[in-house]
Amino acid sequence: MANVVGIDLGTTNSCVSVVLDGTPKVIPNKAGYKTTPSIVAISESGRRLVGQMAKRQAITNARHTVYAAKRLIGRKWGSPAVLHSLETCPYQIVQGPHEDVRVKLRDKVYSVPEVSSMILQEMKLIAEEYLGEEVTQAVITVPAYFNDNQRQATKDAGRIAGLDVLRIINEPTAAALAYGYGKDLDQTIAIYDLGGGTFDISVLEISEGVFDVMATSGDTFLGGEDFDARVIEWLTLEFAAEHRVDLRKDDMALQRLKDAAEKAKIELSTLAQSEVNLPFIFTRENNETLHLQRTLSRDKLEELVADLVQRTIKICNQTLEEAQLSIADVDEVILVGGMTRMPAVQRAVNEFFKRTPKKGVHPDEVVAIGAAIQAQALVHEDTEVLLLDVTPHSLGIMVYGGGFEIIIEKNSTVPTSQSHIFTTVRDNQTSVKILVLQGESLRAEENELLGEFVLTGLRKAAAGEVEVEVTFDISADGIVSVRARDLETGKAQSITVTATSGLTEDEIKKMITENAEYMVQVRQSEEVDAKRDQIRRAVREIEKVFPEVESALGGSALGQDALAKARDAVTTGKSALGSNSMAQLSSSAEALERTLQVFTGILERAT
Ligand code: AMP
Repeated sequence: MANVVGIDLGTTNSCVSVVLDGTPKVIPNKAGYKTTPSIVAISESGRRLVGQMAKRQAITNARHTVYAAKRLIGRKWGSPAVLHSLETCPYQIVQGPHEDVRVKLRDKVYSVPEVSSMILQEMKLIAEEYLGEEVTQAVITVPAYFNDNQRQATKDAGRIAGLDVLRIINEPTAAALAYGYGKDLDQTIAIYDLGGGTFDISVLEISEGVFDVMATSGDTFLGGEDFDARVIEWLTLEFAAEHRVDLRKDDMALQRLKDAAEKAKIELSTLAQSEVNLPFIFTRENNETLHLQRTLSRDKLEELVADLVQRTIKICNQTLEEAQLSIADVDEVILVGGMTRMPAVQRAVNEFFKRTPKKGVHPDEVVAIGAAIQAQALVHEDTEVLLLDVTPHSLGIMVYGGGFEIIIEKNSTVPTSQSHIFTTVRDNQTSVKILVLQGESLRAEENELLGEFVLTGLRKAAAGEVEVEVTFDISADGIVSVRARDLETGKAQSITVTATSGLTEDEIKKMITENAEYMVQVRQSEEVDAKRDQIRRAVREIEKVFPEVESALGGSALGQDALAKARDAVTTGKSALGSNSMAQLSSSAEALERTLQVFTGILERAT
């Protein structure tokens, strides 16, 4: 049976895992690393670079290198998250046609799901290379606190990458699955997940293979990137005070600062001090070069980020309250995400939960492992895992006067369904417009607009006579859909949905085709590269043994002919290296292989 994989599509790094013979395994990339940077770039020649290759050139190609795309996925143009990225990212963020966000790389504008699809595609290729077969199905994880727009956009990214997304699951829930899978646990656990871009906390009950989420909460704009930003801010302020230069205005300097800040932060998880050394960071108009050199202590770092750490603790407190649990009810606290390696984070969690958090699970890999377990459970019914997750936000509609009426409460177990009856307010009213939103504010405008639904073709009747039942569904993916029916006639009402962010179905289909075409080109160019390598190897081998063959032939006419043919094959092979024509490369490679066979025969006979 074909393999299904679990993909942790992280803000900073991504990871892919598969269950083989009942055991989850994290799949390493070509370089042997178990995580791959979630970075995408377009090179000057228009080539797509993903992962380590993109990271390596980020400083020199900062304007065309996208990192932390997850922070933008499913977001609306003008939202605080986007404004923040506009200020801090060296790449170009532009407005999309549906109030959505796009990025401009070289001369092409990409939607955020497209950028994320390139990372997913890379994870798919890593898995395919390792498993030696095509991978078409996956479970992808998202932060528990992602809303419907963000989940839908992530699913779209999977589709563009050529994946059938079996399920979108929450990262902390996936971590819990990885922690509890195959163990006979009866526990209440808290998963504290602080990654590169987001913070999530989930409280679950695990019993007899059932993973029941009781409450979940988080902040989709609180993660390692914000910790790095504090260090960058400190470095730039210190630099500005000394030299009166704002480094943030320089894309290349900003990218170098970003790398240095993260490096210092990571070092300070094990060391008391870290040296930040960025020579030639700025050149003044008079050609004077400036260098940045600072020592950052762990104490200073902790002071710079103290409020960020406390924000996560406040959310933990609130989540326990929502789950109606006290700290003593929590049997185990599990740390997930790279940022939980920071001692100040571990200390804060320890102090709040009054217990040492468990670090037995690998924080970078545990989410992908959980996703692989869920993927396996979805295709092989004999896997004994049942996941009962919850919706992180209340779902509701806008009512008269701009109020927000909740239809499905936050922390309701999904899948779930709730109905609401709408009546006409005017005589002969034939349509009703409904605004669907997610959030906790009493005011509709402060919540996230998911879509506008227009019920059309209503019966003409006096006001209040036509009753339409609208049913709101939240799938196990956490994705919302809406159905409507006339209560008197039982007739289904048509609904027009206007996407408020994200992509239309036509756009997604176009992107799927473009991506598939791009992949064909990539495969063709890989084949061309492989043929060139074959030619180079054969030429090198022929040139190496040529003198031996020449002396073995001892000047015979037949021998001279063979040597001339070999010289020809080598010359043609070398010139073919400059060509992109597969036919030319193949015929040269064949001629060289034939020459090699002849040479081998001659040498064998001579010995
Ligand atoms: P994740 O999204 O789980 O891969 O987490 C990535 C975040 O963890 C990034 O912001 C990293 O800088 C951060 N990180 C990774 N290792 C460490 C470490 N040893 N100490 C502090 N932060 C770390």
